[in-house]
Formats: sequence, structure tokens, C-alpha cells
Amino acid sequence: MRMWKSIVLFLLVWSGGGLKTSAAMVPGVPENVGKWSGREGQILPVPVKNVHLEGGFWGPKMRVYKDRTIPHSWRYMGYDIRSLRKAAGEKTDGPFNNTWGEANLYKFLETIAHSLGMFPDAALERQVDEIVDLIGRAQRANGYAHVFIINEHKPDWDPDFLDGSHDGYVLGHLIEAAIEYQANTGKGALIDIACKAADEAYEHFLGPKGVPGFCGHAELEMALVELSRATGRTKYIELARAFVEWRGRGMVKPYGATPRAYFQDAVPLRQQMNLDGHAVRATFFATGVADLALATGESDYRLAANRFWDSVTHRRMTITGSTGPRQEHEAFGEDYELPNNGYYESCAACGLLDFAQRMFLLEGGSDSGDVLERVLYNAVMHGISLDGTNSYYQNPLSDTNKPRYNSWVCCPPNLSRTVFQVGRYAYASGEEDVYFNLYVAGSVQAPLKGGLVGLKVETEYPYEGSVKIGVTPGKTKRFAVNLRWPGWCETATLTINGEAMNPLRKTDRGYIRLEREWKENDVIELNMEMPVHLMEAHPLIKDCVGKVAIQRGPLVYGFEGVDNQGKAALELGDDPQFKVEARPDLLGGIRVITGQDVDGKPIVAVPFYAMANREKTVQELWTVRRGLKPSDAWWEGRLYRNTHETMTKSIAPSPTEKDAK
Ligand SMILES: [Zn+2]
Repeated sequence: MRMWKSIVLFLLVWSGGGLKTSAAMVPGVPENVGKWSGREGQILPVPVKNVHLEGGFWGPKMRVYKDRTIPHSWRYMGYDIRSLRKAAGEKTDGPFNNTWGEANLYKFLETIAHSLGMFPDAALERQVDEIVDLIGRAQRANGYAHVFIINEHKPDWDPDFLDGSHDGYVLGHLIEAAIEYQANTGKGALIDIACKAADEAYEHFLGPKGVPGFCGHAELEMALVELSRATGRTKYIELARAFVEWRGRGMVKPYGATPRAYFQDAVPLRQQMNLDGHAVRATFFATGVADLALATGESDYRLAANRFWDSVTHRRMTITGSTGPRQEHEAFGEDYELPNNGYYESCAACGLLDFAQRMFLLEGGSDSGDVLERVLYNAVMHGISLDGTNSYYQNPLSDTNKPRYNSWVCCPPNLSRTVFQVGRYAYASGEEDVYFNLYVAGSVQAPLKGGLVGLKVETEYPYEGSVKIGVTPGKTKRFAVNLRWPGWCETATLTINGEAMNPLRKTDRGYIRLEREWKENDVIELNMEMPVHLMEAHPLIKDCVGKVAIQRGPLVYGFEGVDNQGKAALELGDDPQFKVEARPDLLGGIRVITGQDVDGKPIVAVPFYAMANREKTVQELWTVRRGLKPSDAWWEGRLYRNTHETMTKSIAPSPTEKDAK
């Protein structure tokens, strides 16, 4: 009760007298998580409901997802709800779902759970409760809950169908929905169902009559680790470990002519050097391995997670954060195989976002945050349309009037459950440290060992580089605020209560660490210079040779024909004369970059995330830059880097210096 009062007081102080909506203040919604409960030295994500997004870039977007995406998504749930009714013994007519379909329903329920934490809605909650009741009635008596298999009268975890049945994928999403539904509503019925199903899986694979195997579509591994965190039951970690360890040993029959690499089964974990196969399965698998490293502290899992991280972020990721260029088997290609018209499924971007977050929790380095924001602000945001009711399965960088494949398969609810978790990706906390990985307007109550500390953020990031942070220390006075110094940022200044920190240093992990006794109303102001950068790609990426991409802050820009007299394949002039212009009326309010092409004609670039939101048009992200000299030196594991063209102009040697050389 004391906690309750202090939170209300806290919000009063923060909101400057005018109370704002918060889950913590609404009866029936659990209060924010107030205690940090990690092991020594551990970093934990801040729960979604401890973050209040308001204004800036994300506040209005959350409204769109709540008001448009959720109502729109219901119309696609018919198959799955009908299938549930059938499995529950009700009389139903019409088509039923396929093997993976019900994962869509569970991803959607997780979306709603996050939304209820931010925007309580009793009617919506009742709709979910009815579905939870159905799931409970559809579940087999032993706990097995995959409705497609139940309706087909097939055996649990059918060994002839393990790669294709999506048993574990579906159960993983059920578990994640259940954890979030309990966290945001306090209701435990769904997590009881999920635990019963997870217990059945444990019994099936690891019980006295257990049969080794695993679901060909990874997802259950990370969900089990999360379930263990939520319930304190270590048996779920054991099962996740078994699913990882059994891979690469020929225990699962491939579905048709599928290569074993497709489902990460080509070689055992310790021999896997790269992230291979189906890109969604692979990124989910890598996230599960990183989760196992976090849960067990075992170095083999940590080493494997780091190998996968280097494989994808150093050699197999587009500048927008997409992975999986091949249409055949929806797969990763060879190193540097990153065609601009590649496949690049939205779900793989969601998977990489989760993997990046786990790698930060595991290693604490700002490079994870760099990838995280690259994926989020480019690939993921491009996947979901600006009006919240449309989404793309594929996110190519180059496109020619083709209608993008847009259908209600796996991606739409994955995108919506992902964007609702921005608060979780933005913040993390240790015993005495708060970490900022994203700069998002609103407020956070970060749990530290000594209790909650409050931080209120005002910013227009990713469009502006200034971030103002108000501190409300609560009971904990001494702690450190860690601000990620983004990889794109070369110059920054910082003041605390108007006093400049000079020189401004970053830690060897890439953060500005501000440790002190904080006082009520202390203000941190971070200013990151955000010029337009011309980026070049590693010379082994064939499609990008001789080309540059425009990037400002974390946003990658490209050209659409609709803004450029029908042309998107452009060539930049010697001095493109870039200007950043605010266009509040365009594409939901964006900043465009205007300039000149090689013939002096005006050109307009828009952020990649906002592309493909108007009429059908051509689009290109990489642009010809005559005279660009590829160099294979000093890449140090990076795939993309600033050409420093704007800088070299101002520091270019004078003709006499040149002559002297
Ligand atoms: Zn998908």
C-alpha cells in the first residue's frame, strides 16, 4: 500500500500537477514492478508497464496501434477462434486454421496484453477472457494445447511431423501471451493453461518415457526461459536446454526435401559458426541460445550467441536491419549476400530485435543498442504501415511497382506485439544502474536494488538529437544513469542542471555513465549532433558498390518515384546540398531530406520506414555516387560506415598541402 501511495505521489510530481494516465493508477491493473530482482551484476529489461510513452515519435504511434491495429486485427482471428471452438467440442462450420495459424491468435493476445497495460479497456479485456476460457476447454486433459493437431486427431508432438507441425512455435507464443496477460491484468487463467501445456511438453520430452526431439520452428526455447523467470520453475530452462542441445544430431525428420540447416539442425550447437537457414527460425533460435546463456551463465551458450551475433550483424544484415535475402527456404545467404531486392521477412526483423536486446543483457555493449535501433526504426517500422492496418511480409530496399506481398500470415501480429514493447527495448536496469538504449518521449520507473527511480524524457528522437531527462530519485539517491552513445553520433554535449560535462567520455561499453547522488528535479540535457551522413557498404556487398545510402540519426532514407518525377534510381551530384525539412502533413509527420541530383534537379528522400505507404511506386535506398572509391581497409567487423564526405569537405587539404605530398 505504501508503494501504491508513493507511485501516485511520484506521478503527481512528474506530471506537473496534471495527472496522466498510467496503468499503476487504474484499479484492477497491477502496480508497476518496483523491485529489481536479478543476480549480482545482472542487467534486466524494464517491464513494459513501467514505461509510459507520451508525445514525441512513439506516443501518437501507440494510439494508432491501439485504436486502429487492434480493432483491424480481429477480423483475421475467425479461423483460429473457430478452430478453438471445434477443439472445445462446440459445433462450428467453415474453414479452420493450419499448423501455425493459432500462433497468430496468441501473438495478437500478447499485443492486446501490452495495450491493456497502457490503455485499460474493460470490454477488450472481456473479449480476451472469453478466448482464454475457450483455450482452456480446447486443451487436452494432459495439457497438450496445439489446436490444429487436436482437431486433426493427431498424436501430441507427432514425431513424423515435428519440423512442420509448429507445435513448439505455437506453444511458445501461447506462453508469451500468457506471461504478458498476467503481468498487465493480474489474471492468471492463461498462464495456468500455458504452464499445464509446458509441463506436458516437459513430460513428453524429458519425463520417464521421454523421446528426444524439438519443434523445427524455434520460439519455444526463449518462451520457456521467460516462463521460468515468471514462475521460478527451473524445469522449463532444462527443457529449453534440451531443445538446443538435441539439434544437429539427426533427431527430427525433415519435412519433405528441406535441408537440415533450414531448421538449425545441420550441426550441433558448438559447431555452428554462422546463423543459417530460415531467417525467422534462425533469429528466434539465436535469441533462445542467448536466453539460455543469461539463465544458466554457461560460457558455451554465451560463445554460441556471440558467434551468431557476429555472423548476422557483421556479415548478413542490410543497412535497414533486415536479414534473410533468399526467397528459397526464406533463408540467410552466404556472407555479404545482401541483394537490394532480397526477401527480408518482417518476422526476421522482429527476431533480430529480440536477439539484439538479449545480447545487450548478456554483454552490456552499445553495439547491441545500435543494431536494435537500426532494426526497429527501419526494417520493423517499414513492416507495419503508418495507418496501422496494413503490413508487409517482405521489406526489399529496391522495388519496382510490384505490389508488395501483403497478407495476414505470421508477420502482422508479430509486428504489433513488437512495437508495443518499445519501452522494454528502450530501458534496462542493474542493481544501481539505469540504461537508456533508445531515447523515447515519456517516462520510466526503473526498478533498482533500492527501489524505483523515475526519469521523464522529452525528445523528438529519432528526428532530433536533443534529449532532456528529468530525474526523480525516490528513495534511491545514488545511482548511475547510462546513456547509450549511438554508433552514428560523432559529436555530443551534455549538461547536468546547466553545467557542462567536459570532456564528455564514454565507457568502454559505449555509454555515458553519470553516477552521483541525484536530487529531485535534476535535469540532464544530451545534445547529439545529427547531420546527414552518406553511408557506404562493405565492398563485398555487390549491390552496393559505387553507391551510398543516406542516413540521419538512426533513420535510413531512400527515394520513391512519387516524390522524384517517377524515378527512384538516382545519382547524387558532387555537392548534393542536403537540407532537412519538417513536413508535418506528409506521411504522418516526417522530416524529409531535400537535395540535388547530378544534373542539379531537386530530389526528395523520405525515411525508409515511411516508404511504400502511398500509391504504387518505384523505390531505391542505395544511390549512385560517382567517384566513390571502395576500400577494403578498416572495416573492423562493420558492414556500413559513414563516408565522412561532409567532414572531408571542411577538412580537405588545401591545394598547396596536396602538392607537397
Ligand atoms: Zn512473418
